[in-house]
Amino acid sequence: MARKDTPEQAEFREHCRRWLGENRPAPPAVRLPEMAIEVSTEDHMGYLSDWQNKCWEAGLVGSDYPKEYGGGGNHGFLRIANQEMSKAGTPFLINVIGLGMAAPTILHHGTEEQKRLYLKPLLAAEEIWCQGFSEPGAGSDLASAQTSAVRDGDNWIINGHKVWTSLATFSKWMILLARHSNDHKYNGLTYFVAPIADTPGVTVRPLIKITGGTGFNEVLFEDVVISDNMRLDEIGKGWTVAMTTLTHERGAAEGAGSGGGAGVEERIEGLVALAKKTPRGNGTAWDDPVLRDRIIQVAIRANGLRQTMRRGRVEGLIDHPMRLPLQGKVVMTELMQDAAAIGMEIAGAASSLYIRDENAPDQGDWPLGYMNSYGMTIAAGTSEVQRNILGERVLGLAKSK
Ligand SMILES: Cc1cc2nc3c(=O)[nH]c(=O)nc-3n(C[C@H](O)[C@H](O)[C@H](O)COP(=O)(O)OP(=O)(O)OC[C@H]3O[C@@H](n4cnc5c(N)ncnc54)[C@H](O)[C@@H]3O)c2cc1C
Repeated sequence: MARKDTPEQAEFREHCRRWLGENRPAPPAVRLPEMAIEVSTEDHMGYLSDWQNKCWEAGLVGSDYPKEYGGGGNHGFLRIANQEMSKAGTPFLINVIGLGMAAPTILHHGTEEQKRLYLKPLLAAEEIWCQGFSEPGAGSDLASAQTSAVRDGDNWIINGHKVWTSLATFSKWMILLARHSNDHKYNGLTYFVAPIADTPGVTVRPLIKITGGTGFNEVLFEDVVISDNMRLDEIGKGWTVAMTTLTHERGAAEGAGSGGGAGVEERIEGLVALAKKTPRGNGTAWDDPVLRDRIIQVAIRANGLRQTMRRGRVEGLIDHPMRLPLQGKVVMTELMQDAAAIGMEIAGAASSLYIRDENAPDQGDWPLGYMNSYGMTIAAGTSEVQRNILGERVLGLAKSK
């Protein structure tokens, strides 16, 4: 049986609904981007960090975290808060990397001092976090990371080049995977929390994406000094700690950790609305049974995914802890890509009108969503790599090489 809300959880759900109904923020002066990792202006950052801070004060962020670290101390409440924010369609939570990746990793591997220092400002969006894993020569093969960490008394000297670092321009902290030894591929890695704002030797350079926005960046470290008390877990345990982060990253990527924001239901409703208002012949695109069938196929897949994810809450049905996060991430991101592609087809030639064009259907959301959807099948592990891991580790198939 799927777990039902306990009386305390039902009361919390009611609190979330009521609070979200009464406190929905007025829209910002300039439209928000699709996702937190695309935010590139101070105005958006200010608006969104205020919103996360209010949600935290109301107990909707960090609900599962212990009270001594700024959380609500109620196990099982975080899922409810995320569900209700998603249903309410309120703005997304900006500290997405902090909430989805850094916080659970610090909670699991951090010292008492680290948990007290980092978690509360992260949950309250007072300090924004980014993730420094990928490098020009280490993406899917993350264990090849070459950014070096050399011990110097109570400090470490960091040198290297991180890339695709979302939110780095606004971040105070980075979760950083670095190499302290070249003798071992995996055991040569150590995990740090690195201060990157106004830190001597750190350069953050925005990268322009196909969407025209920035969002992600290169981060260069040149003889950056960080203290040993910014190391998470033991020297040489970096790979194990990174696996904790990645497990949560994949869960967050299928929507579990980021609160409100554009979801698959919204995208499908948008497709139906677009088809109904787009002229075709004597009627609209919605009159085309082949197109309707394609939209319904997407809706069926979305429902299949929703039901599959519910299995995660049924005792005894989870055979492997990685199965649902990996499966959910692959299916959700590919589904969003297919939905966006159908939207582009319906809009036809008008799909070439982009977000700043007042004649663009749905304010240019379809080309924006279509371009972003390719990033989503790459970020947090490409679909190919996720399928390899599912095959090898979950299904026990022979290794690909
Ligand atoms: C929108 C976005 C945001 C991101 N944000 C961050 C961030 O904040 N921090 C961060 O550290 N990184 C971030 N990344 C980087 C992301 O983690 C990497 O892009 C991803 O891991 C893939 O690495 P790569 O780009 O180096 O591609 P590569 O690893 O070079 O892969 C290239 C191609 O080869 C395929 N391939 C590679 N290995 C295999 C294999 N064994 N079997 C089959 N196919 C394979 C891949 O599927 C892909 O198609 C972000 C990426 C995107 C798109």
